[in-house]
Amino acid sequence: MSKLALTIDGKSIQTAEGQTVLSAARENGIHIPTLCYHPRTKQAGKCRLCVVEVEGLPGLRVSCSLEAKTGMVVRTNTEQVIETRKMIIELYLSNGKHNCLACEANGACELQDAAYRLGIDKPAFPEIPKDKPYDDSCPMIIRDMNKCIQCYRCIEACNSIAVNDVLDMGFRGSSMTVVCDTDKPMGKSSCVVCGECVQLCPTGALTEKKAVGKGRAWEMKTIKTTCGYCGVGCQLDLHVKDNRIIKVTGAENTAPNYGSLCVKGRFGYDYVHSPERLKSPLIKKDGKFEEVSWDEALDFVAGRLTEIKDKYGPGAIVGIGCARSTNESNYVMMKFMRAVIGTNNVDHCART
Ligand code: SF4
Ligand code: SF4
Ligand code: SF4
Repeated sequence: MSKLALTIDGKSIQTAEGQTVLSAARENGIHIPTLCYHPRTKQAGKCRLCVVEVEGLPGLRVSCSLEAKTGMVVRTNTEQVIETRKMIIELYLSNGKHNCLACEANGACELQDAAYRLGIDKPAFPEIPKDKPYDDSCPMIIRDMNKCIQCYRCIEACNSIAVNDVLDMGFRGSSMTVVCDTDKPMGKSSCVVCGECVQLCPTGALTEKKAVGKGRAWEMKTIKTTCGYCGVGCQLDLHVKDNRIIKVTGAENTAPNYGSLCVKGRFGYDYVHSPERLKSPLIKKDGKFEEVSWDEALDFVAGRLTEIKDKYGPGAIVGIGCARSTNESNYVMMKFMRAVIGTNNVDHCART
């Protein structure tokens, strides 16, 4: 692919044909703030925060939807650019109910972060009262549209990434808001609670219900792990405080899920801390299960398999693979049954 050469903030850079000015800048370590743009949704041109000056072009241009061209001279931080960005953020802050002190997103909010970076102390405009109903009808997600900045990320996430077609922008003018189906409470809509919209929301408009009040972003450490629910092997980021999982998000930029998760992977983590969770193998002794070491359990299984094989032949043994195991584990099980036990009695629970 041929390369384009342009200048951003006095730096000569090269980028691939078809790239936007925003992508070209980011590739080269030049920060341009955005609220609506997300690399996974690619939906752009809504928040206007990424405006830049381009020599020879009138006014300010929106860098997320401006194609980079050879010879372009772009400036990302002139006085006019900064003043425009400040006004955009001030308008967002005055058009909504933003009480950061009590907001779950405090410390992880892209709107708050943009205001901080631009040095905005208090919005210059009076607050436009917003009184959208607080929707906690969904068992896992809270929607507070008073904190929504209408960036469309959730809509793109639901319709283009998760392909569930639940969310859309409804109503007109100042009544415009994100709606579930035909403006139903989320818990009564066709939402499948995948949480894709929550992960991509830049503000506290969408939050994970189970995480409310459990900790601030800066108190949690992030631990990357593999989901244990099925063989796909989705990569998770566990947000952990005091050794307890507060919430789970999909690991961005990582195969195979690239940030997406299903309802189980994202919200079904209570079992991790359940007191009923099995932590060691059990063997039934005198009619009662007893906890034993892994060595004892494996010796027991090996002994019984040998006994059965010697007495009845390998055809008396069947191996059933598990849909929650990885492909690799299922392959090893199949190989063990055929090569070690000597039977082709191999099946998989997902087939029944
Ligand atoms: S959504 Fe962001 S800006 Fe609004 S109250 Fe929450 S933390 Fe503050
Ligand atoms: S949780 Fe999933 S299905 Fe429900 S609205 Fe969000 S993206 Fe759509
Ligand atoms: S709910 Fe969040 S993601 Fe959706 S439009 Fe509002 S701010 Fe954007």
